[in-house]
Amino acid sequence: MSELPIYERFHSWQGEGLHLGKSAFFIRLHGCPVHCPWCDSAGTWHPEHKPDNIDRMSPLDLADEAFSSGCEIVVITGGEPAIHNLHDLAYELRIRNLPIHIETCGAYPILGEMDWITISPKNLALPIEENLALADEFKIIVEDETSIQHWTNKIDFAQIGVPTWLHPEWSCSKDESVLSSITNWIKDRGAPFRAGFQMHKLFQADEKDKRSKPEAALCSEPQK
Ligand code: SF4
Repeated sequence: MSELPIYERFHSWQGEGLHLGKSAFFIRLHGCPVHCPWCDSAGTWHPEHKPDNIDRMSPLDLADEAFSSGCEIVVITGGEPAIHNLHDLAYELRIRNLPIHIETCGAYPILGEMDWITISPKNLALPIEENLALADEFKIIVEDETSIQHWTNKIDFAQIGVPTWLHPEWSCSKDESVLSSITNWIKDRGAPFRAGFQMHKLFQADEKDKRSKPEAALCSEPQK
């Protein structure tokens, strides 16, 4: 059973999407080949931010730790978690009756059986067709008034039909034009679009677990 490179794992609650508010154990894996210039998880891949020593854990130990937290769901994230073979981790979590969620850009085949797939598409690595068909929800990061139109030109969310969350990019979360663009889009179109927010950040929920690490964000402006 191969070990996985762990950036952090901690117990908090899901702050986004359809499972908002559920007790969740987060497993953030190292590595991402997408290299968005505004990445807020740069500690998982950027040479100037990633640690010298990368912890590795077996799927069995990760699953035991998740189980002992008492969480309701497990969220596998990154970096880009789908670059790793997740079969063994998914198996170990499943035999402990833990629902398995993944948050991915959708550009890579997902190796392992998931219960919930959240795709947050990135311009530098668009989702592949097989993942568009598997998605349970989408999360669009809105950083200016053109963002939503940009993404609806690339992906036919209405035809796919699963909840499509419109989140203000965190540094723009008080920007009137960003918030208005979300409000107007929802009021004009309705389903599958929904207004979203990173609620856990308001509560500083993740920081309550000492195993969580501060966000390592790159400085460049988001570029969809
Ligand atoms: S934002 Fe996501 S896809 Fe982009 S570099 Fe960061 S971890 Fe990778």
